[in-house]
Amino acid sequence: MLDGEVGPGAAWRHGWESLRQFSPAQWSSLPGWPMPAGSDGTPTRDEVVAYFAVYEARYALPIQRPIRVQAVRRGDGPLLVESDTSVYQARAVVSATGSWGKPYIPQYSGQELFRGIQIHSADYRTPQLFAGKRLFAFVETDGCFADGVSVATGCWFGRRTLRLMDYGKVAATFVDTRTDRAIRIWPDPRARNRAATYAPDEHRRWHMYLAAYQVMPTNELLRAEEVELTVDLAAMISRPGVRMNCAECGEEIINEREVLRDGKTFCRSCAGEHYYQHRSDVALVLPETLASVGHETWKPHEQLTIQPGAYHPA
Ligand SMILES: Cc1cc2nc3c(=O)[nH]c(=O)nc-3n(C[C@H](O)[C@H](O)[C@H](O)COP(=O)(O)OP(=O)(O)OC[C@H]3O[C@@H](n4cnc5c(N)ncnc54)[C@H](O)[C@@H]3O)c2cc1C
Ligand SMILES: [Zn+2]
Repeated sequence: MLDGEVGPGAAWRHGWESLRQFSPAQWSSLPGWPMPAGSDGTPTRDEVVAYFAVYEARYALPIQRPIRVQAVRRGDGPLLVESDTSVYQARAVVSATGSWGKPYIPQYSGQELFRGIQIHSADYRTPQLFAGKRLFAFVETDGCFADGVSVATGCWFGRRTLRLMDYGKVAATFVDTRTDRAIRIWPDPRARNRAATYAPDEHRRWHMYLAAYQVMPTNELLRAEEVELTVDLAAMISRPGVRMNCAECGEEIINEREVLRDGKTFCRSCAGEHYYQHRSDVALVLPETLASVGHETWKPHEQLTIQPGAYHPA
């Protein structure tokens, strides 16, 4: 038995990470040794692969791999099975090459217009590829506008895919982080004046805008421009998970926001970029533990005590 794979499992070696059998284990068994039920009735990809691995060891199947057959030819007597490295002779050949290695990708109209990712399930591994990490948005004001941008785009401060540039403007720039293409969108300044035309029966201002903006043609409501970023987006996104401690205050710094000076690492605040000043005469008394603050759902594994000012130089 010749197999092009480097190990047991055939097509299942290439399944996506969350793939499970759809058929229950008891209906999927090979002769002689039933497939174990697995963790949840329908075995996972890895459990299927493990079953094949144990099965072929149990019956000492004479499998050679990785050997990829290039051709089968009719010789004078036996069939000649040719691989990269050798030629085998056989009276009969069973070809069980499956279809995973040659996925069928259909053509459909408009296919070339879709600019997102199109892959065959044979190439799919994890949803990571599609996770909302590719789009990055700058908003030029905070407030509910920023929330709206988050809801509409999936870019959030919490996901580090949204950044505030506080210009006091209802405007946003959307960046494709893979291509660096950036598009800034802002309301047409004439949109307010045009609103009455689109909601003539509404005389309350706010309600008029609300009604009008829903039906106003996008070209009258918004303006858009392709822009080039002048900030370093890669530095902004940085490498999360990198942790440093400030040589001065001892506080932890994440996201590569440390400042290096004379071979020492400082936080921005200690390096002089203040948005606050120390009032060292005021020491706050904090609750003894966070649990005592009264969050009923907060169940700390260990009690955490905060010592205010522990690192602050006098
Ligand atoms: C998403 C998905 C879920 C499935 N779920 C189930 C399920 O729940 N239950 C069920 O019963 N079935 C299921 N199937 C179907 C089943 O897994 C496949 O039909 C099965 O893998 C087919 O086995 P096979 O041996 O015919 O082919 P494959 O598993 O594709 O194996 C073919 C083998 O041939 C080798 N090969 C190919 N060309 C060469 C060459 N030239 N030289 C040497 N070796 C070669 C490959 O390396 C591979 O090891 C599922 C299939 C898919 C795609
Ligand atoms: Zn510091």
